[in-house]
Amino acid sequence: MRAFTYERAQSIAGAALAGCRPGAKFIAGGTNLLDLMKLDIETPTHLIDVNGLGLDRIEPTPDGGLHIGALVRNADLASDTRVRRDYALLSRALLAGASGQLRNKATTAGNLLQRTRCPYFYDTNLPCNKRQPGSGCAAIGGFSRSHAVLGASDACIATHPSDMAVAMRALDATVVTMRADGAGRRIPIADFYTLPGNTPQRETVIEPGELITGVTLPKPVGGIHIYQKVRDRASYAFALVSVGAIVQADGTGRIALGGVAAKPWRIEAAEAAMPLGAQAVTALLMAGASTTPDNAYKITLVERTIKAVLDQARKETA
Ligand code: SF4
Repeated sequence: MRAFTYERAQSIAGAALAGCRPGAKFIAGGTNLLDLMKLDIETPTHLIDVNGLGLDRIEPTPDGGLHIGALVRNADLASDTRVRRDYALLSRALLAGASGQLRNKATTAGNLLQRTRCPYFYDTNLPCNKRQPGSGCAAIGGFSRSHAVLGASDACIATHPSDMAVAMRALDATVVTMRADGAGRRIPIADFYTLPGNTPQRETVIEPGELITGVTLPKPVGGIHIYQKVRDRASYAFALVSVGAIVQADGTGRIALGGVAAKPWRIEAAEAAMPLGAQAVTALLMAGASTTPDNAYKITLVERTIKAVLDQARKETA
């Protein structure tokens, strides 16, 4: 690990200002950043600890929704009675992620901003455009079983690892930030993540110094909430494919996918086909998919997982 300086932020505005310094990074739970620093993948020269900023509350919003502070720990968010009752998809997605110890430490903002688990990203002996722009992509032509089948580019085929973000995409969450100039932003999660294109090192629309202060959920939409994650082992593993769904009694609803792209994948137009069944929805959701021999199985796996989710929803509404 390289040497760095450290400060505890005293205010949101001060943190955002300090975050503009070249080489500065925010740290909260540190469950991803510290690992990346030990591996010499992230090399910040200055860490700004934001844990003392009081952004750790879950509060109702005037329009019947819920505001989740950026520093609310994943375990606390998953167990909140309002979340379990009105946004069960979010609670279930959180509990499908990481381990109990990590969920106790990891924060809402950090979960959104976690980096890919592409194995080549973590191997500093191999080229990776995300880690070192312009160096190449070892996954293309390499072992790509876990990689993206949608929205990828010739520069990067990595997936986003967050389960929580998949649920938030289905729930139409809004990411709330503060910029260094003191201006706030409200970014719909549909616009928060960027696809790799020629700049896979850029993963979100967040600007230097911009601090996530929270996430807002709109008022609850009811329905059956299901998060189905398919992975290599029963816990502490990232999704090969995941399906986050809200299904209403008439069969309509929402579906977002994890494990297939560099962002949670949701095509609102595809949801019109939900009452027709898994095959119809999958055809629309996975339109334009590009696979390798290693990851072509994901197309079938998505359809089967959606079928399992829709069957479960039907049983629960019967
Ligand atoms: Fe790096 Fe992306 Fe290629 Fe993985 S897929 S090696 S993260 S450029």
